[in-house]
Amino acid sequence: MANLGYDDTPVIPGSVYKVHDGTRPQPRVVTPGAACAGAPSDAVVLFDGTGLAGWVSVSDGAPARWKVEDGYLEVVPSTGDIQTTALLGDCQLHLEMATPAVVKGESQGRGNSGIFLMGRYEIQVLDCYQNPTYPDGTIGAIYGQYPPLVNACRQPGEWQTYDIIWEAPQFAGEALVKPARVTVLLNTIVIHHAQELQGPTQHRQLASYAPHDDALPLRLQDHGDLVRFRNIWYRPLTGYDQG
Ligand code: MG
Repeated sequence: MANLGYDDTPVIPGSVYKVHDGTRPQPRVVTPGAACAGAPSDAVVLFDGTGLAGWVSVSDGAPARWKVEDGYLEVVPSTGDIQTTALLGDCQLHLEMATPAVVKGESQGRGNSGIFLMGRYEIQVLDCYQNPTYPDGTIGAIYGQYPPLVNACRQPGEWQTYDIIWEAPQFAGEALVKPARVTVLLNTIVIHHAQELQGPTQHRQLASYAPHDDALPLRLQDHGDLVRFRNIWYRPLTGYDQG
C-alpha cells in the first residue's frame, strides 16, 4: 500500500505515533444502521434547508457563497470556509452530510470537508468508504490527534449523521484551566467518548492551546470537494436544575 501519511512529523504526546502517521492502525470498519434525526423543540436551527441566513464567509464576513438546493447546502469550491453568526459554546450539535456520489480522488483528496467547532477544532469530514488515509485524518477524526474509534462511514452520496457533544476549553488569563472535550457519534456509532483535545487543529504539527472566548462561530470547511450538509442544529448544554 502506498505511504498514506507522513514520517517527518512530531510524535503526538501520549501516543507512539507521529502526527498523520500512515503506519497507525486503520480504524476498524463498522456498517451503521439506518437513521436520521430531526431537530428537537428546543434546538437552535442553523440550517433548515431553505437558505444561508446566519452564515457568512470566513474570509470577508460577506454572505456565505455556498449553494443551497433541494434542502441541502453544498460547498462551492474556492469560495472558502463559511461560519455561523451564532456563537456556540458547550453544546450538543447535530448535522448531516454527504460526500459526492461521483467518487474522485483518494486519501485526503476524496470528499474532504470539516466541522470546525469554535472555528478551530476540526472533526474531519471525508469519504472513507474503501478509501484508506492516515488514520488521524479518517472521517470523524479529531484531525491530527485521534483517529475515530471505528470507521463508521457510509457509502459515497449517502446522508450521514454527526452528533457531537462539545465542551469548550476553559482559560484563566493565558493559562489553560480545562482542555476541550468531545464526544462524537457518527451514524449513531460512538467514535470518540469524552476525549480531551490537545489544542486547535493543526496540519503536520502538534497542537497547543491559546486562550479564546467561551463561545465562537461554527465553521464548515471548503476543501475543494462537493460535500453537502443539511439539518444543522444545536442545543446549548446547561447544568442540572437549570430548567
Ligand atoms: Mg477536512
